[in-house]
Amino acid sequence: MAILPIVIAPDKRLKRRSKAVETVDDEIRTLLSDMLETMYDDDGLGLAAIQVGVPQRVVVIDVHEKDEPKAPLKLVNPEIIWLSSERVIYEEGCLSFPNIFADVDRAAEVNVRYLDENGEAREIMAQGTLAICLQHEVDHLNGKVLVDYLSLVKRNIILRKLSKARRVQASDE
Ligand code: ZN
Repeated sequence: MAILPIVIAPDKRLKRRSKAVETVDDEIRTLLSDMLETMYDDDGLGLAAIQVGVPQRVVVIDVHEKDEPKAPLKLVNPEIIWLSSERVIYEEGCLSFPNIFADVDRAAEVNVRYLDENGEAREIMAQGTLAICLQHEVDHLNGKVLVDYLSLVKRNIILRKLSKARRVQASDE
C-alpha cells in the first residue's frame, strides 16, 4: 500500500468527469487500497480517485466513529439510484480543500448501486453522515466539488485563499 499525493484545489483535474471502470482487476484493487491508506493518513471520511489524479469512477469511504473499528467501503462505478425528498444541511470538508468548510444542502437518504472490489454488484441504503459522504464523492466523479454549492462570490474568495496558500507554501520550499 502507498500514500498518494492529493490533488489540491484549484486544479482543473477536479472539474473533470471520471470514466467508468470496465473491469475490476488488481490495478483497481491496488488503487482502492492506496486510496484508503491515503484517506486514513489525512483523517478524511471519503476520497474519490480523481483526488489522487486518477480519472476513474472509484471511491473509498469510512465514516466509523473514532472509538469504533474501521469500516472501509470500497465502491467502483457508484451510482445514486434514489434520493429522499427530505433534505439536510451539513457542514462539509474535503481533502482537496484543506481547512475549508461549507454548508451543503443534500438529500437525507440515498440508495447507491456499485461494484465491490471483486466486481460484484451491490446496493447500499444510507442515511446520516454516510448518505452525505456518498453524495459528496459521487459529485467528485462528475467534476463537482463542495464550493460549487456556494455563491460565486464565496467560491472565488475560497479559491483565491487556496491559491495564495499554495504560493506561500511554494516560496517556503
Ligand atoms: Zn471531497
